[in-house]
Amino acid sequence: MSDSPKYNTVAAPEGYAGEGFFATKLSDVVGLARANSLWPLPFATSCCGIEFMATMASHYDVARFGSERMSFSPRQADMLLVMGTIAKKMAPILREVYEQMSEPKWVIAVGACASSGGVFDTYSVLQGIDKVIPVDVYVPGCPPRPEQILDGIMKLQEIVKNESVRRRSSDEYNDLLGSYNIK
Ligand code: SF4
Repeated sequence: MSDSPKYNTVAAPEGYAGEGFFATKLSDVVGLARANSLWPLPFATSCCGIEFMATMASHYDVARFGSERMSFSPRQADMLLVMGTIAKKMAPILREVYEQMSEPKWVIAVGACASSGGVFDTYSVLQGIDKVIPVDVYVPGCPPRPEQILDGIMKLQEIVKNESVRRRSSDEYNDLLGSYNIK
């Protein structure tokens, strides 16, 4: 007889269980669903993008986190991964892509270049994408290994899981977008 398959199921959110019922918060259920079905939009301009290709492939298998469905259309993605050097000339394009994504949306800056400009402290390179769009998770490294990218996705899953369903319409969130001049 073959061994039974080994897989992990996602744990249920905190709640109250009794005979034949389970009660929890709407925010927790929505957060659980969102966190385990993040659709990535890879915005890759250089070497870090290659590491992400490895992250997607069979060995590291980003599908284990429900994120195998890449989207190259901003309107059908909710996790923007920016990987590589972003020239200042490219910054408005990145911002437009971000604005075209529908809410709720999250951003991961993958690698030193996207996070801070990396070694390219020059007149032409944006010194971190958070100069033009808000960032939720920063992944260090030049380049980060696929494990680090997966770790960044897992960190984001925690943020998404714990986000209130009201956050996107809150004054705090509008102020954040306002600080970037995004409506
Ligand atoms: S952080 Fe390093 S590996 Fe990544 S894009 Fe910049 S130079 Fe390339």
